[in-house]
Amino acid sequence: MALNACELEIDLFCRGLRVPDHVPLDGVRGISRTRAGLGSGLEIVIPTRSWIKPEIWMNAPVVEAFARQSPYELQWSGADGYAVRDSRGGARYPVRLPPEPAWYRRLTSLDVPMSRVGVLQGTYLGIYINPVCAFWNYDPPLNCGFCTTGANVGCAESSTKTVEDVIETCRAAREESGATFVHFNGGFQGSRGLRAAEPYVRAVKERVGMLVGVQLTPEKDFSAYDRLIDLGVDHFSFCLEFLDPDWFARVCPGKARMLGQDLYLEAMDYCASRLPRGAVSGEIIAGLEPIDSTLAAIERIASVGAFPTVCVFRPTVGSDMAGWPPPAYEDMRRVLLAVYDACRRHRVPIGLAPNIEVSLVVNPDDAALLAPLGAATLAFELWRRALRLAARPVFARRLRPRKISGPTL
Ligand code: SF4
Repeated sequence: MALNACELEIDLFCRGLRVPDHVPLDGVRGISRTRAGLGSGLEIVIPTRSWIKPEIWMNAPVVEAFARQSPYELQWSGADGYAVRDSRGGARYPVRLPPEPAWYRRLTSLDVPMSRVGVLQGTYLGIYINPVCAFWNYDPPLNCGFCTTGANVGCAESSTKTVEDVIETCRAAREESGATFVHFNGGFQGSRGLRAAEPYVRAVKERVGMLVGVQLTPEKDFSAYDRLIDLGVDHFSFCLEFLDPDWFARVCPGKARMLGQDLYLEAMDYCASRLPRGAVSGEIIAGLEPIDSTLAAIERIASVGAFPTVCVFRPTVGSDMAGWPPPAYEDMRRVLLAVYDACRRHRVPIGLAPNIEVSLVVNPDDAALLAPLGAATLAFELWRRALRLAARPVFARRLRPRKISGPTL
């Protein structure tokens, strides 16, 4: 039986996609091995034929060993464009491959290729702003088992990004690709990470006008979050990864030893209390810890008005967990349906901001396609639609460059 677009997205995350050599990929976005390495697949857009969400963006795994055994194959014909074919029953799903932006090949005024500063992951711009996460510097290393930041930052992307490089890249992404959101992330930098993000946030708000998200390891001094909120940060995300303490310690030894799960949850709760509902997220990796723990994490995150972002575990090439198996589709479908269900029950307004499609995860509003279209779903979808309309002028204001009061660092 044919899958709907979100089911196909989940199955592609779990099984990967084969791309035969004869399929032309000229002009489409190439594989970008940056940041933690999750964007190492092929960016594709799946039309949904649903009024709830017209299309779904995803980064399909193509280079991992499991993807070579995938039943899914990318096809191309001059008349019909691209499609994904499932060799198990012959189902064929038309897809679109987004073009590589022209600015990827341009240099900043400091002669840095813009694609080494930031990359589009879906429709948003992702920029890793820190030096390499300090967990990689310990002996033995304390890096997370699924991560390849230590191999990517300084190789596939610049190890340090000046504010000027970041601004010019943001401006190009905003003007030429229509990006509305820049996501600054980074790894562990002790208690200096949040402070180091401030000049980037200020410069984007004052000189470009984009929505800004920050994803850094949590810090004990919550006034650092207050300062970033005063500078105009629109979104914080917290990579809790696992609720089960044993899995957290096993896969994320640095986070467990230097920070602890409680700090992730407390920082998330604090930011959720300071920002509008739906402005904060908690990130979870699904497919490793027991499903019941993942479901409990989803409930915990949504209960404070934050939204869960669930990353289907990808055994990324070059990571310590490269040889691990990907999760099963049925389990991931259950988890993603729970994300949507938790957002609905806790009235977390997902998908309000304009043009933010994250290709590395199954977006909570993608998962609307998994829910039965009964009265509860319909009521939530109509509520979301009304909020989206009401929020338009708010986002239009936040997307304009504006002077930020307070001292410049
Ligand atoms: S905290 Fe973990 S996932 Fe994040 S950059 Fe460091 S090692 Fe990678």
